[in-house]
Amino acid sequence: MHTRMKSPPPSAQRNGPQQSAAEGIRQALEDEIAGGRFAPGARLEEVELAGRFGVSRTPVREALRMLSASGLIELKQRKGAVVAALSTDRLIELFEAMSEMEGVCGRLAARRISDVELAALHDQHQVCGIAARAAADSNDADSYYEANAVFHALICKASHNGYLATEVSQLRRRLQPYRRLQLRMKGRIAESYGEHQAIVAAIAASDADRAAELLREHVSVQGHRFADWLASVNAVYGAAAA
Ligand SMILES: [Zn+2]
Repeated sequence: MHTRMKSPPPSAQRNGPQQSAAEGIRQALEDEIAGGRFAPGARLEEVELAGRFGVSRTPVREALRMLSASGLIELKQRKGAVVAALSTDRLIELFEAMSEMEGVCGRLAARRISDVELAALHDQHQVCGIAARAAADSNDADSYYEANAVFHALICKASHNGYLATEVSQLRRRLQPYRRLQLRMKGRIAESYGEHQAIVAAIAASDADRAAELLREHVSVQGHRFADWLASVNAVYGAAAA
């Protein structure tokens, strides 16, 4: 999935090695923030990063400036670069947007998915099943998290709307640390896997309305699930998310 480091985008290639180093660092840090290596509120030290990436502080500073422009980190007067924490209100907005957008992906996928894509979705559902059983045994949610992300990406791709698929994947990355918490909630993985089963069936039956509704509900955090999820966000990120 993460092949982004291998070739810098054209804009970075045009602007010389310094810019290209900054771009590579930006992408690496973005992956790490999204992957939860740096929690919201964590500080990013210029000197430490320069050492780790084997570069001077200039491209590191440039990478931090780019991350700040995209809202992923905040540059503070005395503290330096800090991973941005989303407010609860913002989180609710983003999750709401995400669930509605994934619902649309499901609706379009039910109408447009090809036989090959449907076979791949069935296969990935099996992979999720294996990961769900492993998670039940080991209490490790990460492999299900990865399998689940691929499952959702396949549905978005099958919508055959590239714009929508890109927007959803960006939002998904932004919410990644918080989505991991969702899956750590007791019993959620088994529940999630069961919901996938119904989603695959609706898409296979070309039932666009049902696929949309099931995906929207699957992704959203609402009812008792919402209260539980918010409690775990607050437990992990404390005041940052209050
Ligand atoms: Zn899912």
